[in-house]
Amino acid sequence: MQRTYPDNYFLVIYFHHYLVDSVSAYYVEKKEQNFGIYSKMIELDRSPHEDDKPVLEKEITAEEYHSFVFMYAFCLKQAERSGGFKGGMEYLHSMYVSKEEFHAVLDEKSMKEKAIRKKAEANRTPLIDELKREGFCPLPSSFNEFIWTSGCKFHKGKHFMFIDTRTNECTCPYGGNKEKH
Ligand SMILES: [Zn+2]
Repeated sequence: MQRTYPDNYFLVIYFHHYLVDSVSAYYVEKKEQNFGIYSKMIELDRSPHEDDKPVLEKEITAEEYHSFVFMYAFCLKQAERSGGFKGGMEYLHSMYVSKEEFHAVLDEKSMKEKAIRKKAEANRTPLIDELKREGFCPLPSSFNEFIWTSGCKFHKGKHFMFIDTRTNECTCPYGGNKEKH
């Protein structure tokens, strides 16, 4: 069934995360002289979610708010941010873009990511094999053809680390550890 949303929600996105799914709504609120685009989580794990603190996404001018082109571009920009920490996205509702337009951006992004991952896979080095044997589960990244990620060898796999296949350098993003092989 098609859900209806309050009139001020100009964009509603479904996020697929690793652990829980959520729905966020985007709306505009006047703030002193300017306007702000805010987002708010309205559903968590398929249940209504209230009292979530709105996040200021972008301060905009009245002119931008009343520009269809500006608001249209903002909506498609969100689709470009899918993946990674944001999780996979799905279009639920918008006053500015159609589902087809939104998903075309998502598809293009995932195609680009697949192409990068394929290139990264081809840049595999013996260090990657070693990390695999040690149980760190290395994976080719989807953002840089020379970078793989795996469990962090400096912190017993508690979080991820980066491996640069050009230099065989492992970098922990948390502890600042680096090691060349
Ligand atoms: Zn670490």
